[in-house]
Amino acid sequence: MPALTDSLRTLHRIHRQLSDLQDRLQRGPRQAKVADTAVKKSEGELAAAKDAHRTAKMASDEKHLQLKQREARLHDLQGKLNAANNNKEYQLLKDQMAADRQANSVLADEILEAMERIDQLHAAIKVAEENLAKTKEEFNKLRKRVDEQQQGLELEFARVQAELTAAEGEIPELFKDDYLRLARAMGADCMAPVDGESCGGCFTILSPQVHDLIRRDKPVFCKSCGRLLYLPE
Ligand SMILES: [Zn+2]
Repeated sequence: MPALTDSLRTLHRIHRQLSDLQDRLQRGPRQAKVADTAVKKSEGELAAAKDAHRTAKMASDEKHLQLKQREARLHDLQGKLNAANNNKEYQLLKDQMAADRQANSVLADEILEAMERIDQLHAAIKVAEENLAKTKEEFNKLRKRVDEQQQGLELEFARVQAELTAAEGEIPELFKDDYLRLARAMGADCMAPVDGESCGGCFTILSPQVHDLIRRDKPVFCKSCGRLLYLPE
């Protein structure tokens, strides 16, 4: 078994494992953030629904008050009508009362419509409350799962990190510094298996000399992308 090829394969496997663990470590918090955004959106929608309901209620109350005032005035006018002492005054009061009754009838219709609208807005609040409860529950479930997962992933990450350090200890001094510089800059992309005639990282065709060196278990970096090359199994 060619010693260098073997340790490079192991090294790349460890690098890939670390990169995968890193992805998974980031995925959980990212999902939690999305769920948190959904909660905030639902909170905003509930607040808006309550606001719309409150505004409609205030407008409706205002109309109710107006109706009551007009009815009181009609009552007042009726008194004046009964006491009217000439025809002209009587007719004037009669006209005014007819106008007020007409206005009240329009207002009463408006109040009915407003009350229907208030019912709808009240139902919308219920829907928004249910949505908020649902998104909150989803967020809490997700956060619990992520918290549990993160602990395991962090342990696993530390274990594989130690494995990497041990595997890196096996790298010949001759190119260790070059490898380490590359590994720090590129992570799992610091290495690539040979893919047929090409570099498996950037797919540039490798020269016969490069192939020859790799087959003879020598360290070679791809001239195009800089990755450390190795023969796959
Ligand atoms: Zn390459």
